[in-house]
Amino acid sequence: MDWPVRYNNFVKKSAIGVDIGGTSVKLGLVSLEGRVLYRETFLTASAQGSQAMLHLLASRLVGLIRRAKTMRVNVRGIGIGAPGPIDVKRGLVYFFPNIPGWKNTPLRAFLEGRLKLPVWIDNDASVMALAEFRFGAGRKTKNMIALTLGTGVGGGIILDGKLFHGVSYSAAEIGHIVLNENGPRCGCGSRGCIETYVGNGYFARAVKKHLKAGRKGLLNRWVFKDGKELTPLLVWQAAKANDPLALEMWRKTGAHLGTALAGLVNILNPERIVLGGGIAQNNKFLLSAAVRTIKKKAFPIASHSVKVVPAALGVDAGLIGAAALTF
Ligand SMILES: [Zn+2]
Repeated sequence: MDWPVRYNNFVKKSAIGVDIGGTSVKLGLVSLEGRVLYRETFLTASAQGSQAMLHLLASRLVGLIRRAKTMRVNVRGIGIGAPGPIDVKRGLVYFFPNIPGWKNTPLRAFLEGRLKLPVWIDNDASVMALAEFRFGAGRKTKNMIALTLGTGVGGGIILDGKLFHGVSYSAAEIGHIVLNENGPRCGCGSRGCIETYVGNGYFARAVKKHLKAGRKGLLNRWVFKDGKELTPLLVWQAAKANDPLALEMWRKTGAHLGTALAGLVNILNPERIVLGGGIAQNNKFLLSAAVRTIKKKAFPIASHSVKVVPAALGVDAGLIGAAALTF
């Protein structure tokens, strides 16, 4: 693997980050300071099955490496964030819950054989956590938890400055901490996981239940009279306009989240908890309710030393964190 050495007189050092998502695959050049120098995207559906995707990804990466040369950028390796369980050590994708056709796919071996560059792979939630830890809201910490709230709830844990994986690389499934053993059925097969309270779809359904039971107010008008789609964003807008149901829903959801986090705070004693994803981004209603609950339920010695903050890197976190796997 002499490629990076041959070009080490190049002006800028970088790594390639790849962010595989259920809808699109983003890839780009990221500087060692965590800046995205160049990016491109293609639709996940443009390749059916793992073999087609491997070949498409490899050819896009060949193009990206060529582009790096024209930009006089040195590439030290390729980091990939992938939406499913990964054998980090062997560079193997066990499967993707939302992309069919992947089963024990040797993603790293395939790409290293084609591209003659070292490849690192990790779970997308861990990659987000790494991005925030290195360049975002978790900087200057050593022990940090990151949560991405979306359709599902992803988690990443940094302990003593390193991503924590567990013995079979399935650690940090924070979204599946059980809050209520008789709670709603979760996508994972269990019941009452934190995801069934905080995940986008579950949250919207819970709000809708209140509306159908006759709760009046802004949300009721927007959804039933104006025909707006009931999304977490709409509930956030209603909360900003002081709608009682919206405020109550965020308070309750934040309390559920805070209860799960209080347990983690007691166990891991982190310095920071970074909350990202659509439902959490700059959502002071959710954040303050979660913080209140942590203060109430975790041991004071641990809850006094933890700060809960919104994620800082936004949509680029996946790309930046993937590249950071190589740093
Ligand atoms: Zn679950």
